[in-house]
Amino acid sequence: MPDFIFPPMPPVSVAIHGRDAWFPVHRVYCVGKNYAEHAREMGSDPDREAPCFFSKPADAVVPGLGEIPYPPGSSNVHHEIELVAALGAGGRNLSPEQALDRVVGYAVGVDMTRRDLQHAAKDRGQPWDTAKGFDYSAPISPITMVEHGSDLQRGRIWIEVNGEIRQDADISDMTWNVGEVLAQLSRLFELRAGDLVFTGTPAGVGPVNPGDSLRGGVEGLQEIDLLITPVRTAGAENGGIDPGQGGRSGIGADCRHWPDK
Ligand code: MN
Repeated sequence: MPDFIFPPMPPVSVAIHGRDAWFPVHRVYCVGKNYAEHAREMGSDPDREAPCFFSKPADAVVPGLGEIPYPPGSSNVHHEIELVAALGAGGRNLSPEQALDRVVGYAVGVDMTRRDLQHAAKDRGQPWDTAKGFDYSAPISPITMVEHGSDLQRGRIWIEVNGEIRQDADISDMTWNVGEVLAQLSRLFELRAGDLVFTGTPAGVGPVNPGDSLRGGVEGLQEIDLLITPVRTAGAENGGIDPGQGGRSGIGADCRHWPDK
């Protein structure tokens, strides 16, 4: 064991549905505007231009069941329900078929977005990090394992806020399918086992507020079920692990936000 000056954070990990095993997270990549109707609602031309990629820190990943706090510094936080691909192996310059063969499972995630900061960043030509990569910004369901090379071609994707449907589409509406997204990503980054890829959101994004409950899913996968709590003002102790919340990322030994699988 090297002589660290403080204990390193344990790996962020995501539960595997139906198995007593965890998926250790390496990186979190996201695709912008991968459904035509959503591209239109964001003021873009939905033609098949190359996908726009951004990323979130691995420890933005939190369990999709339980509570997440409203982030500070924003008054317009949006939900974006997304299909998430989980990689069990990586590579560079992959074909869509090779990339799909690296997918070990799928989950449902919410790309939480500070829309006001994103609009300001777009206007000023500034990076999106504060709009996209904040704490608790990537709640995710347990991962459902799939056979290597199998694709999710279709299935309903939906989210409701306080029981009211906000986004309701089909993943077959994606401009770039999962294999194509991963193939293009692999030309920009070396993909690795543990990477999670948020594949974009359909139309209907909108604001959430403290007290709201979010429930959403993709047909065939585990659902997310979240309560938005007020902005947290106190910092977490123990290097970011808050004992009261079971760890900022639901990580390490204390993963009690996860239900029995
Ligand atoms: Mn998104």
